[in-house]
Amino acid sequence: MSTLQQLALAVALIIAAVATFSGLIHPGVAATPESNATHLEGIDTDTVEWTLKDEAYWKEVMTPLQYKVCRQAGTERAFTGSHNDNKSPGVFACSSCGQPLFQADAKFDSGTGWPSFHSFIDDKVSEKADYAFGMMRTEVNCSRCDAHLGHVFDDGPRPTGKRYCINSVCLLHQPAE
Ligand SMILES: [Zn+2]
Repeated sequence: MSTLQQLALAVALIIAAVATFSGLIHPGVAATPESNATHLEGIDTDTVEWTLKDEAYWKEVMTPLQYKVCRQAGTERAFTGSHNDNKSPGVFACSSCGQPLFQADAKFDSGTGWPSFHSFIDDKVSEKADYAFGMMRTEVNCSRCDAHLGHVFDDGPRPTGKRYCINSVCLLHQPAE
């Protein structure tokens, strides 16, 4: 092997080593709605003082979309959320704090492109007037961490006549046990 070949081999080995190492540092995990609640793993969500968490905390633990929708009252694009067509039994919880919000059997197909429910669990959802965009709407929030969830309308099915129009990114599905 000539000196030039040895040099080329050494350079190739260095490039391969750097590529492997940087791959370990930056595995390139895609930010998906399903992966947006990793901050809840391994903690007792019932003992955390969620209202004391500040904007810096939410920005750090959430995906950009989740932060924009759940903490800044944004809206995910219709028909793009992971729970729009989710018909699995169980409970839909708040993706910010883990509080159970909606029973899966209260979910119905509204055709709007967002998960829709006719009712929520006990006192887990709070409502307030929202005058944004020149409209009079009723915003719905998680009663424990005040996460924005979506809006409620009066054109839902029986038994309540309500349609809770909720962003998928604000929900975590917990399968029935
Ligand atoms: Zn919450």
